[in-house]
Amino acid sequence: MFIDEAKGGKGGDVVLVCDRNEGDLQAYRWQPHRRARNGAPGQGRQCAGPDGGDLILPVPPGTQVLEEGSNRLVAELTEHGERVVLLAGGKGGLGNMNFKSSVNQAPRRTTPGYPGEEGTFRIVLKTIADIGLVGYPNAGKSTLTNLLTAARPKMAPYPFTTLHVNVGVIDYTDRFDRIVMADIPGLIEGAHENRGLGHQFLRHVERCSLLVFIIDMAGSENREPWDDHRILERELRLYSPILAAKPRIIVANKMDLPAAAAKLKKFQERVKDMVIPISCYSQEGIQEFRDKLWAAVKGPVDQRPKAPAPYVEPAVAKRLAKVHAAKVVVPKAKAAKPASKKVVKAAPAKKITPKAKPVAKKAKVVAKRPVAKKKPVKVVAKKKAAPVKKAASKSKAKKK
Ligand code: GDP
Ligand code: MG
Repeated sequence: MFIDEAKGGKGGDVVLVCDRNEGDLQAYRWQPHRRARNGAPGQGRQCAGPDGGDLILPVPPGTQVLEEGSNRLVAELTEHGERVVLLAGGKGGLGNMNFKSSVNQAPRRTTPGYPGEEGTFRIVLKTIADIGLVGYPNAGKSTLTNLLTAARPKMAPYPFTTLHVNVGVIDYTDRFDRIVMADIPGLIEGAHENRGLGHQFLRHVERCSLLVFIIDMAGSENREPWDDHRILERELRLYSPILAAKPRIIVANKMDLPAAAAKLKKFQERVKDMVIPISCYSQEGIQEFRDKLWAAVKGPVDQRPKAPAPYVEPAVAKRLAKVHAAKVVVPKAKAAKPASKKVVKAAPAKKITPKAKPVAKKAKVVAKRPVAKKKPVKVVAKKKAAPVKKAASKSKAKKK
């Protein structure tokens, strides 16, 4: 007997699932081509074919999916468990059972299925850390991360020891909470122009709520700590206004070195942000830093550091101040008197106009009507009628 075939199965979707247990996108680097399975053809005994089954791709929180070529942001996964159907699977065709009729009990007719979607995407990870550790090479970022977290970044006294982002978790066991800290490889002057390694990692700090500037207070390599600070600020500003607008605290590291104490004083005079002196070697100030960090990230909102005021170039600020000053002075000294005169002159003119207006209106009415020059009589009649009425009312009032 001929075996009927029912509907074909649905092709699997390609689904991205946000999974906090995923740390990176390495899996997609080694296996960039992914395919969901096809739906199976319909089967015997009028059974539909099984669906292909979705292809589930786990990605870490902070993953962005960009369309290759156009660079359009297709999806962004930030919360654990979030699902995004990146590509929909095809649809199964209709099996011959659909064409069965009273006169054709065993049709051979079927329709083909629809193909599934295909696409090429670029998957980018923007780490979601609570805080971003930003500092010059050799400032002690990796050492501090080592000290505070279980992450073990490589430390060495040469720049660019760290070649990828180290995400560490600072555990606050007493508070049953944690803060995720990303150690960003060294920023140097010109990082926003892709000099050094800072630029390609800066995107990881784009989302954190607080920046921690770590500054070598001993001022090694002939640089002063305030210069480091100024350059870091400038790099951030040039790279992204979003980053520059984040609140920040400053960690003054290497306080165990003799030159540090004097420089710290000078530094604090120049910088408005909160400065916490620490030493990764002697561990001085580390506990205080932990506590202040907690307060800044998770503490009461009104006690957290405020975002800095928008930056204005010093030259521009000077020019603006001049313009402002000019605006205030000019109208008081020069423009005030003529303005008042003008007002006095203008006032009676305005007062006159309302009186003149009805006249003008009447004049207009008159003027309009004489346009039809054939009927001057009507105009006269109306003109006369009005004063008659008024006069009548006046006379009535007088009589009363
Ligand atoms: P990174 O480039 O910012 O990650 O800097 P590292 O953590 O790799 O540290 C650079 C160098 O500074 C290493 O030789 C560290 O041992 C040293 N260092 C870090 N913290 C301190 C500190 O508190 N005191 C002193 N004297 N040296 C430190
Ligand atoms: Mg490092």
